[in-house]
Amino acid sequence: MKHRLAVLGQPVAHSRSPAMQNAALAELGLVPGWSYEAIEVDAEVFEELVRGMAERGFAGANVTVPHKAAALAVSDEASDTARAIGAANTLTFADGAIQAENTDAPGLLAALPEPPRGRALVLGAGGAARAVVWALVGTGAEVGVWNRTPERAEALCADIGGAPDPDPDAAAYDLVVNASAVGLGGEDPLEALPLREDSFRPGQVVVDMVYGADPTSLLELASTGGADTVDGLEILVRQGAASLELWTGCDAPLDAMRAGARDG
Ligand code: NAP
Repeated sequence: MKHRLAVLGQPVAHSRSPAMQNAALAELGLVPGWSYEAIEVDAEVFEELVRGMAERGFAGANVTVPHKAAALAVSDEASDTARAIGAANTLTFADGAIQAENTDAPGLLAALPEPPRGRALVLGAGGAARAVVWALVGTGAEVGVWNRTPERAEALCADIGGAPDPDPDAAAYDLVVNASAVGLGGEDPLEALPLREDSFRPGQVVVDMVYGADPTSLLELASTGGADTVDGLEILVRQGAASLELWTGCDAPLDAMRAGARDG
């Protein structure tokens, strides 16, 4: 029997998930029974497409921008994590039902070199930041949130937790996560974010959710300051690994996924 998987988004052609997940399926010996593809889908037809996927042989799907809230809305069952974040990045089609999960939150925690401790600063207040703040608040970390539009940081904290920090001293934080889109279009992090060259120090962990350049200028600055760094590809791999384990029940082959994501 054929088991199809997909990432649903718009745009989605740039996604590294097909290369990463197909590398994992091959490593697990699940090819050709299982396969993973990218499907570009408009918001207007998202629900109709998802409702017909099980019939077309799909076992599950990842969901990316701009459909994560719609993915939660279309589901028959949703995890507490997906409900609390207000978004799902993983759908599973089983027993005639659509199940929604959010693996962005556990993916972030799995990518960290050690469990977060002390104070964590999250930059951004969009969809990615919601999952990051929810994950970090759940570990007991003291979470500060900065966003270019401060009202969105206030709304996020009122909804999920953490405290707005409109003028943060990043060096005073043990963990800094860039969950904003800064860097995606080549923006200078020292201009667009509340960071200085002396914001980074040994003993600190800096995560950049943005991936593309290898490493991003933010991670270069962080390394120069002596911080440990985690890049956006590792975050992608860890959320994808959690999704793959849900669908297949197999332990995810992380190294094959890293190689697939890097080359994809
Ligand atoms: P989103 O919902 O559109 O939110 C974008 C965020 O970036 C907002 O907080 C926005 O601030 C901020 N922003 C955009 N341009 C900015 C600028 N020039 N200066 C300062 N702030 C700026 O997007 P998202 O889904 O949260 O994604 C955010 C980033 O995370 C994207 O780069 C995405 O590729 C990345 N991401 C990576 C992974 C991964 O697996 N590695 C997963 C998810 C997302 P305002 O509120 O002021 O507009």
